[in-house]
Amino acid sequence: NEALLEVNHLKKHFSLGKGQLLKAVDDVSFHIKKGETFGIVGESGCGKSTAGRTIIGLYDRTEGEVVFEGKNIHEMTKKERFAFQRKMQMIFQDPYASLNPRSTVREIISEPMEVHGLYSTKKERLERVYQLLEDVGLNRDHANRYPHEFSGGQRQRIGIARALSLDPEFIIADEPISALDVSVQAQVVNLLKGLQKRKGLTYLFIAHDLSMVKHISDRIGVMYLGNLVELTESANLYKNPLHPYTQALLSAIPIPDPDIEDKRERIILKGELPSPINPPGGCVFKTRCPLVMDVCSTIKPEWQEVEKNHFVACHLYNKSRTDGPPRSQAAV
Ligand code: SF4
Ligand code: MG
Repeated sequence: NEALLEVNHLKKHFSLGKGQLLKAVDDVSFHIKKGETFGIVGESGCGKSTAGRTIIGLYDRTEGEVVFEGKNIHEMTKKERFAFQRKMQMIFQDPYASLNPRSTVREIISEPMEVHGLYSTKKERLERVYQLLEDVGLNRDHANRYPHEFSGGQRQRIGIARALSLDPEFIIADEPISALDVSVQAQVVNLLKGLQKRKGLTYLFIAHDLSMVKHISDRIGVMYLGNLVELTESANLYKNPLHPYTQALLSAIPIPDPDIEDKRERIILKGELPSPINPPGGCVFKTRCPLVMDVCSTIKPEWQEVEKNHFVACHLYNKSRTDGPPRSQAAV
């Protein structure tokens, strides 16, 4: 399984004037294999949406590179860029805000096809719209209605149909279920999973907590203040979280089985996510970390592979350090 997408040392900084720099994404690297779902998890404001938007090209990057199918997207010609736009699509958190309220469902779904000159006749495009509506669990009777006539879950289905209209290979789903009722969330996740199987899609799935993302992701990266702090296979992240931030996030998820006694201690993080404007040096998590050490305030921990396919940025696991606590003590 080769990488469909490679993100190398990606940075997205916004200049706010007067020397203030908002480091929304600050040196993030990962890859996504074809057919895989890669989850990015983090609190709001951690830079995960900005990362998604920079990857798809809605924002120019500050530094680093995004490579799709072996091609650096920042070096593409206009023509290559246009072709690339077909292959990578985005689903947004708030389907209502991302759907034009004055357009019918048919217009919403067929617009990208018109822009890209797909299907020569109106009739062909309409057939394609009907097919897409069926693909997402809606039907052709919905084609001439307007977004406000639908529930939140249905609107997200329309957003998904629109994203699929260009037959993409890769979809960035930016918190696609966060705005939906819990009862509807699983339905949309199952729909996305089914579509992935049928159409061979690859996903970047962005979420603000770890509860639902594990059901869809093969691997997960945990993001904090513009940085990835941990990355590993989904099951392993739940079984063996290493970064204190991941441990805190996981402790906040209730165990769903009422027969299992929840003996875990809930880790309450002190304080708020610090501002990404001129962020402090050292470890990004130092202001809230229950295990903070002296070294954390001055030296930024390296991103290292501490076991196979398990990356973490934390001084507790620094191989060259001898004075840190052993792993069993650090794990909660
Ligand atoms: Fe906590 Fe230090 Fe590890 Fe950062 S490097 S997560 S502050 S122990
Ligand atoms: Mg967001």
